[in-house]
Amino acid sequence: MEAQSLDSLQLSQNLPLSQDSFQELWQTVVPPMIYGVEEPMDILVRVSQLPEMFDVYGLSSETPNTDAVTPSVTTVASSTVPVTTDYPGDYDFQLRFEKSGTAKSVTSTYSELINKLYCQLAKTNPIAVAVSSEPPQGAAIRATAIYKKTEHVAEAVRRCPHHQNEDAENHRSHLIRVDGNQRAQYFEDEHTKRQSVTVPYEHPQTGSKMTTILLKFMCNSSCMGGMNRRPILTILTLESADGQILGRRCFEVRVCACPGRDRKTEEENHSKSQSEPKPKPIKKRKSTPAPDSTSVKKTKAVSSADEEDKEVFVLHVRGRKNFEILKKVNEGLELVDKENKVKAKVIKQELPQPSSGKRLLQRGERSDSD
Ligand SMILES: [Zn+2]
Repeated sequence: MEAQSLDSLQLSQNLPLSQDSFQELWQTVVPPMIYGVEEPMDILVRVSQLPEMFDVYGLSSETPNTDAVTPSVTTVASSTVPVTTDYPGDYDFQLRFEKSGTAKSVTSTYSELINKLYCQLAKTNPIAVAVSSEPPQGAAIRATAIYKKTEHVAEAVRRCPHHQNEDAENHRSHLIRVDGNQRAQYFEDEHTKRQSVTVPYEHPQTGSKMTTILLKFMCNSSCMGGMNRRPILTILTLESADGQILGRRCFEVRVCACPGRDRKTEEENHSKSQSEPKPKPIKKRKSTPAPDSTSVKKTKAVSSADEEDKEVFVLHVRGRKNFEILKKVNEGLELVDKENKVKAKVIKQELPQPSSGKRLLQRGERSDSD
C-alpha cells in the first residue's frame, strides 16, 4: 500500500512544475498523497487524471496515460492534420441541420450558404445523419474539432482552463460533447492529442430516414486560453468498427452568445462578397498614403497645366462600406475642384486647394458578442 502511493508520488514529480497556475492543481492532488495512505486507489485515479489536466497548459506530452479516464485511440490511424473534405463514400453519408432561422432567441442555427453552424455554449445541436444503405455492424459516428486556419491547425482543440475547471466530468477537456447518449465514448489520440467523441451508428427509427445525434459545444469561440477567437471546423466521420472512414462531412462552427444575429451578419457579408468579388476601384485624388491594404498606382498623366491634380490613382478599398464612404468623399472633392476651376476661370486667380488630409479609416473586426 505504502509502495503504491510512493509510486504515485514519483510519477507526479516527473511532471512539469514551472507555472504558478498549478498551485491550484497541486492543492487538489497533494493532500491524498500525504494523508491518503488508507486510500491508495483514490490516489491512482487522481494521478491518472493528471495528464489530461496538464494538457490544458500544453505541457504534457510524455506523461503516462493510464487509460483509466480517457481511452486512447488505437484503432484509428492518426494523421497530424485531419482531412476536412467532404466524402459521401459508398453509403452516401449526409448531414441535415434543423432550419432554425436567424431569430434573436435561437440557440442553434445552421447556414447552408456558408456551411456553418452557429450555436450557444452548451446548447444542444441536433444533427441528422443519413446514409443510403445500412453501414456494417459496429459502425460509429465520430465528431472531431480542428482549427480552421493553417496557422492553428496543428494545435488540438480543447476547452479553455476556466470551463474545464468548473466541470466535474471525466471528459471535461473535450469541446464537443454528445448529449443524451449513454454509449458516447470520448477519445484522445495519444500522439496528436486530438480529442473526439463517438456514438454507435443507429439505424433510423421506423418511419424515419435519418438518425439524429445531439452535439454540444462546451466553450465559446472567444474563450481565452481555449479557442481564443480562432475559427474551428467540426468533422463528422462515419467509421467502420475497425476505424475505416466510410464517409466524412465537415462544417464550420461558431459558438457565441447570439447565433441568429451572427449568422445573419456573416451571410450578408458573404452575399456581398460573392456579388462583388472585387470592390470597384475608385478614382481618387492623391492623398495621404494609406496602409498596406492600399496600393496606389499611377495610371495616366493628362496633359496641360497643374500636373499633380490631373494624375489619376487607383485605390483598392477593403469592404463595401469603406468604399462607399471614400467614393462620396472623392465625389465631393471633385465637385469642389470643378467649382474651383470655374471660379478660377472667372476670377483668374489661385484658389486654396481642397483639404487633402483625408485618411483611410480601417474598419475594425466585427465586435464579438461573447
Ligand atoms: Zn471556455
